[in-house]
Amino acid sequence: MNRPALLHFENRFYTLGEQFFSRVTPEPLPDPYLISLNPAAAGMFGLDETHFDAELLDWMSGCQAPPGAEPLAMLYAGHQFGHFVPQLGDGRAILLGELQDRQGNAWEMQLKGAGMTPYSRSGDGRAVLRSTIREYLCSEAMHGLGIPTTRALCITGSDEEVYREQIETAAVLVRMAPSHVRFGSFEVFYYRNQHDQLRRLADHLLAHHFTHLRDEDRPCLALFAEVVDSTARLIAQWQLVGFSHGVMNTDNMSILGLTLDYGPFGFLDAYDPDFICNHSDHEGRYAFSRQPAIGRWNLTCLAQAMLPLFSDDPDAAVEMAQDALDGYEAAFMQAYSDGMRAKLGLMEKREDDHVLVTDLLQRMQANQVDYTRFFRTLACFKADENGKSSAAADEFVDRQAFWQWAGDYAQRLKQENSRDEERAMAMRAINPKYILRNYLAQNAIEKAEQKDFSEIDQLLKLLSKPFDEQPQYEAYAALPPDWAQGISVSCSS
Ligand code: AMP
Ligand code: MG
Repeated sequence: MNRPALLHFENRFYTLGEQFFSRVTPEPLPDPYLISLNPAAAGMFGLDETHFDAELLDWMSGCQAPPGAEPLAMLYAGHQFGHFVPQLGDGRAILLGELQDRQGNAWEMQLKGAGMTPYSRSGDGRAVLRSTIREYLCSEAMHGLGIPTTRALCITGSDEEVYREQIETAAVLVRMAPSHVRFGSFEVFYYRNQHDQLRRLADHLLAHHFTHLRDEDRPCLALFAEVVDSTARLIAQWQLVGFSHGVMNTDNMSILGLTLDYGPFGFLDAYDPDFICNHSDHEGRYAFSRQPAIGRWNLTCLAQAMLPLFSDDPDAAVEMAQDALDGYEAAFMQAYSDGMRAKLGLMEKREDDHVLVTDLLQRMQANQVDYTRFFRTLACFKADENGKSSAAADEFVDRQAFWQWAGDYAQRLKQENSRDEERAMAMRAINPKYILRNYLAQNAIEKAEQKDFSEIDQLLKLLSKPFDEQPQYEAYAALPPDWAQGISVSCSS
């Protein structure tokens, strides 16, 4: 098969040395088969399904390490549900190395579910088909929504049995990101008092991922400030689209501000700030409305771990960290309020816009209004008639509650001479029609468990263009069916 010669591995993380990882050999997935290949990600490397021969299948399922790869499991620590765990590390993700895409960007390629590593603790190193499909679809859905995220190249599967709450089958996800370094990658060295390693990790990031900061007076502080900013903006995007991550532990927080480690995530159906997508999160630590505050809390953990890099004077280092952290609220609020204004089709910025937004969200919560459908439907709002014919009212249990708000909204639109048609176009370009609701993923999973993988490919295609009207998929934009309420997602994956 004339596979592109581009599949040449570089191993930049590997050159950091074995204090940063453990070398591992992937555990072959028995009799693997291709479940889904993501054409968009494959195309980045000049690959398509015709290149997917037995050898490529072996590489992607951990049966054979590709030439030039140096498989390793990354070391990290992390605060899990508020408690520090001194050593975690990739318990089932194996980094093969980096591949360059056709534009010359390097991507770390990881096999998730390719067997045990020294960090597996009590785990089996495997990923079940179910969780692999969820991560595959959601990471690509987030990408389609324009939200920074790890990507996914393909899923390979096997009939090998894996034991969770019930017997399931194993699969391997090929995940890709420019870097998989996490907040916890710094924490592990700080708490071990290994400041040289802290510095080397920062230097690695500055050399390859934050090259624009290398000439700053204090490159490590600048790096941290950038992580503050990108994390704030990432979480604002989550809030705007109604995404709940579910396990915002510091080991799941990307240093590049990517959405990382999809587990029991969920998108809001009816607007509910108290939404907890992870059934194992009994306290609601990671409830939807708490995500912005948790983002800051996690950044505080990162700041602590990076203190030795900011200054030799501990007091000065704390002050610098504090200053950088103080940028979080402003960055979040700006991204969130600009985003909310855009969702509502407002072009101008007014002091009291937050009043209009808060009033709307309160009414949506009281009326169990579907978050995604509402904003999409609102695009057709006619300012002159105060939204009297707007289908958005139909999303409310009590239409009066909508119309009361609609009067203020119409007035606000008129103040900036908003034109209905222009606004509708702009609103449709940022309020998605299609999101990965749990039940949609569940349908794909149930079919896949019967060896029908077509629904995965269908969803992948649909969700790559979430803002487009796709009339043949109209049903995928409907309210979730009643049985969707019963879907339970937990950390078990
Ligand atoms: P997560 O909540 O999926 O981000 O995982 C937290 C930690 O548990 C990470 O260090 C994972 O690598 C590890 N882990 C999760 N599931 C498994 C598994 N099945 N086998 C080994 N390690 C696992
Ligand atoms: Mg994780």
